[in-house]
Amino acid sequence: MEEVSKTAAEEPRKRNFLEEIIENDIREGKVGSIMTRFPPEPNGYLHLGHAKSICLNFGLAEQYGGKTNLRYDDTNPTKEDTEYVDSIKEDIKWLGFHWDKELYASDYFDQLYEWAEQLIQRGLAYVDDQTQEEIRLGRGTVDKPGTESPWRNRSVEENLRLFREMKAGKYAEGEKVLRAKIDMAHPNMMFRDPLLYRIKFAHHHRTGDKWCIYPMYDYTHGQCDSIEHITHSICTLEFDVHRPLYDWFIETLGIFPSHQYEFARLNLTYTLMSKRKLLELVQKGLVAGWDDPRMPTLCGVRRRGYTPEALRMFCEKIGVSKRDQLMDIQLLEWCVRQDLNARSNRYMVVQDPVKVTIVNYPEGQVEWFDCPLNPAEPEGATRRVPFSRELWIERADFMEDAPKKFFRLKPDGEVRLKYTYIIKCEEVIKDADGRITELRCTYDPATRPGGDGAWRSVKGTIHWVSTAHAKEIELRNYDRLFTLADMSQVPEDKDYKDFLNPESLVPGTGLAEPALLEDASGIAVQFERTGYYFKDPDSTPEKAVFNKTTALKDSYKPE
Ligand code: ATP
Ligand code: MG
Repeated sequence: MEEVSKTAAEEPRKRNFLEEIIENDIREGKVGSIMTRFPPEPNGYLHLGHAKSICLNFGLAEQYGGKTNLRYDDTNPTKEDTEYVDSIKEDIKWLGFHWDKELYASDYFDQLYEWAEQLIQRGLAYVDDQTQEEIRLGRGTVDKPGTESPWRNRSVEENLRLFREMKAGKYAEGEKVLRAKIDMAHPNMMFRDPLLYRIKFAHHHRTGDKWCIYPMYDYTHGQCDSIEHITHSICTLEFDVHRPLYDWFIETLGIFPSHQYEFARLNLTYTLMSKRKLLELVQKGLVAGWDDPRMPTLCGVRRRGYTPEALRMFCEKIGVSKRDQLMDIQLLEWCVRQDLNARSNRYMVVQDPVKVTIVNYPEGQVEWFDCPLNPAEPEGATRRVPFSRELWIERADFMEDAPKKFFRLKPDGEVRLKYTYIIKCEEVIKDADGRITELRCTYDPATRPGGDGAWRSVKGTIHWVSTAHAKEIELRNYDRLFTLADMSQVPEDKDYKDFLNPESLVPGTGLAEPALLEDASGIAVQFERTGYYFKDPDSTPEKAVFNKTTALKDSYKPE
């Protein structure tokens, strides 16, 4: 019997640095109630990295009696789409989290615009006519201060007029930008007159054609946090250089003091998590879509049969760190197995069949065995499994010249057919090419479990399916999407697509016991002795399709 171990989530663990910060802030009275936000850009589907961010933002708020807003960071109208907006909500709900308010950075465009005029009035922002390239060159380098734009000292009146004209659509894209006037020699390059607004004649998925100027990320994010009274704005490490600027806008505008904290992005072996690259795989048809079960997207792993419980367990296990980490995908698979092992229903499916005839079993007779759906609950629900004279077993479960340690079926050897009788192989039938076509066996009626005969045991137990009752199903056996463990190490002369695993999808068929097709658990099931499989939406009444979620066992053990 399989051991059902305690889930990792139940084990106590050390506080992470974010929990320490929050507890300290509460203790010192720096914050009232905790408010966090999850800020996706609706330019793609969420992936496993986002799941980590979601678990953190929603998890911390839940833990400390606070709330979390879902805020779309939609300042880049050309790449955004309502398809993505909807999928993001679905994925968060699937993970089991609930947001307080659904908000959009675009909800604040009026307020952001007003603040921009305020900065102009205070001599802290100006309209720059330089080209993108001139601005880039003028920024200087880490060792070399930048040079001031020739337009830097325009009067407040001129700046106001030009900015309003920008808003009114008088200028073409790239002709003018609004910049903050801070310090072109600042050691933090972010402070060298950062861009606040650019012109973009693009239709926005929410504001339509109202705006032709759009605020930049740095000018937007902190103020949105502040408007929503976000106490702890948690983001990934690459934003730490942005933090001083985040603080500068909030202090300069004198608004609610939100604070930003950074944690390490999640990277996983044998996959990658950049929306841009995932989008390319979809657009080039290299995968079947965003929800291809090989994709690291949440809709992909959902279709594969990963459960929200497993993902949350995984996020809990990996913890939060301040240093970039490449996590072993085997840990995620381990979490999936932990969860499914405890909860999933069991069925027998033969994938590479060879026929067994039980010569002393009456022809036409069928016995229905009541078998537990989950061995962890022997008194729990059962399924009915038909037994008859002709059965399928796995070809690999028979061996003609078997070594001593082979405890499955062999000539003159005995094995138990799971849940039923012990059988003995009496005769091996082969075709002209020497390939085994049939195994003639006898069964021992006294070995019926729960029967009157004295119980006797044999070393091996194998799964089987009655040929007359077997249902043919389609299998999609999935493996890793890429062959390279660390996808950040793609050599310069190669492309990440060169590392796509040609065997990431191996199609197959299975012969299943009939109860499998009646399964209503809604989660992946276990094909006994093989792996976990999840029914795919491509299934039809004629043909069920099952995706391989993960293999049953692995030598992997988390530390
Ligand atoms: P990508 O590079 O895949 O496009 P992104 O950071 O641009 O990701 P956003 O939609 O802006 O994607 O991300 C929403 C939130 O999720 C942000 O707070 C971001 O920091 C976080 N996030 C994104 N990727 C990861 C990751 N791999 N690990 C942890 N958090 C992530
Ligand atoms: Mg982003």
